[in-house]
Amino acid sequence: MPTLASEKKSPRAPGRSGRPAPELIFGDLWEFDPAPETADPKLKARYELFINGQFVAPKSGKYFDSINPANEQKLAEIALAGPADVDAAYQAAKAAYDGVWGKMPGRERAKYLFRIARLLQDRAREFAVAETLDGGKPIKEARDFDVPMAAAHFFYHAGWADKLDYVAPGRRVAPLGVVGQVIPWNFPLLMLAWKLAPALAMGNTVVLKPAETTSITCLKLAEIFQDAGLPPGVVNFVTGAGEVGAAVMGHAIPAKIAFTGSTEVGKIIMRSLAGTDKKMTMELGGKAANIVFDDAPLDQAVEGIVNGIFFNQGHVCCAGSRLLVHEPVADLVLAKLKNRIKVLRVGDPIDKNTVVGAINSKEQLGKITAMVASGVKEGAEMYQPPCKLPTKGFYFRPTLFSGVSMSHRIAREEIFGPVLSILTFRTVDEAVEKANNTAYGLSAGVWTDKGSRILKMSTELKAGVVWANTYNKFDPTSPFGGYKESGFGREGGRQGLLDYCKLV
Ligand code: NAP
Ligand code: MG
Repeated sequence: MPTLASEKKSPRAPGRSGRPAPELIFGDLWEFDPAPETADPKLKARYELFINGQFVAPKSGKYFDSINPANEQKLAEIALAGPADVDAAYQAAKAAYDGVWGKMPGRERAKYLFRIARLLQDRAREFAVAETLDGGKPIKEARDFDVPMAAAHFFYHAGWADKLDYVAPGRRVAPLGVVGQVIPWNFPLLMLAWKLAPALAMGNTVVLKPAETTSITCLKLAEIFQDAGLPPGVVNFVTGAGEVGAAVMGHAIPAKIAFTGSTEVGKIIMRSLAGTDKKMTMELGGKAANIVFDDAPLDQAVEGIVNGIFFNQGHVCCAGSRLLVHEPVADLVLAKLKNRIKVLRVGDPIDKNTVVGAINSKEQLGKITAMVASGVKEGAEMYQPPCKLPTKGFYFRPTLFSGVSMSHRIAREEIFGPVLSILTFRTVDEAVEKANNTAYGLSAGVWTDKGSRILKMSTELKAGVVWANTYNKFDPTSPFGGYKESGFGREGGRQGLLDYCKLV
């Protein structure tokens, strides 16, 4: 039986009517026994490049380590691609496009996508553990979100592959050719599925680079491609850091490049490709506002806010990293949030009870720490729950900042960590103005009882996705993408397919 170590009563926050909030404030967490997920992730000691359907050593003979951010231990060695490897990958992709994939009827391509989805489902637990070990996200999320959603994207696009005449009614569509793709580390397998499934369904072939810190599930997916009998060269993976990404984006062969990552790197790529005729899609950073009105169901809103920013340690481009809360309920919402984050379990991501796992890398932990220090220095009021953090590995406490104003860096810049900046507003117009007062425009959330207000807000908010009375909900049928410096192009749905074809 779990025991509650202690229970303290503290002054209660005022409710909507000024009466004390009914919450009890617990000082400590229930003690749980460790519950690590035990499935074997079937890791190899060394992962090679995946080119032309084979695992091949990099021409340079160089490798780098992928570590587990939860304990800083080495998991595997990953091949470091050089320009000659990237070129070999593109030659293979071009030969596969010209020789097989570009000509194959959609109904035949659909069978491969369907097979890939099924094989991923068969090995779901193994992939979830590998994703958690390599990236630091809680096993609950890898198991219940990342892997099933990745399979869902392959299933969904398998369904489209023989119905492409309906992507643009009245027009015919044709593949673009070879596509170059680069993805980040926050959803390694899911971003892979978002990029590969529509490209392949449409008949393109691919060269892709995963993020340096999270290459393992990408190379495990290559094993599935071999098992599925995917023709050699249809998908090629080159691993390494930013230079490899630049080589993938800058190569002469791809007709289109697709990038997901930071706005800063997205701008570098756009500058380097200006004047070429390559098609581009960019999925970049965000600084979403989660907007809570005084008529909202506040307990649900608090769950949504917590999910919006602490899901995946805040390593989410569309994280609800700014909370805009209606002044009459601001104190109450803050008190409820403090109570809620006191009982979030922070720690070893492989433990099934963990809600907030490890920060992906030492570098990212440094960036979060610096941004939080700027918040304190600029005068915002910080709250962190008194949870114990593991002594090895990269961890950061869930953090709330109240008393934030739009001039603070923590209100404007992407933190990409479990840090929530709280601002207040008085009127609907002020909420819209504050929410839109950012260079980004990826997502937003609205919490209110009034349907008319939801419709007004979703029309006026300059964000690619607006969630109403929920947050961080995804579906392969629903297009995702940004406004302004959050990028352009859509992933998912019919709109996502349009970004991988030409109309003929
Ligand atoms: P990042 O530094 O921009 O890196 C993204 C990818 O680009 C990585 O594979 C990276 O390699 C590679 N790269 C670095 N420099 C490059 C260059 N000059 N040319 C080509 N590729 C290059 O971003 P991150 O820190 O990994 O990811 C976090 C960012 O991604 C956040 O800003 C987040 O908002 C954004 N994101 C956006 C979406 C969306 O859908 N809008 C989804 C997820 C994430 P290395 O791994 O070696 O750095
Ligand atoms: Mg790693």
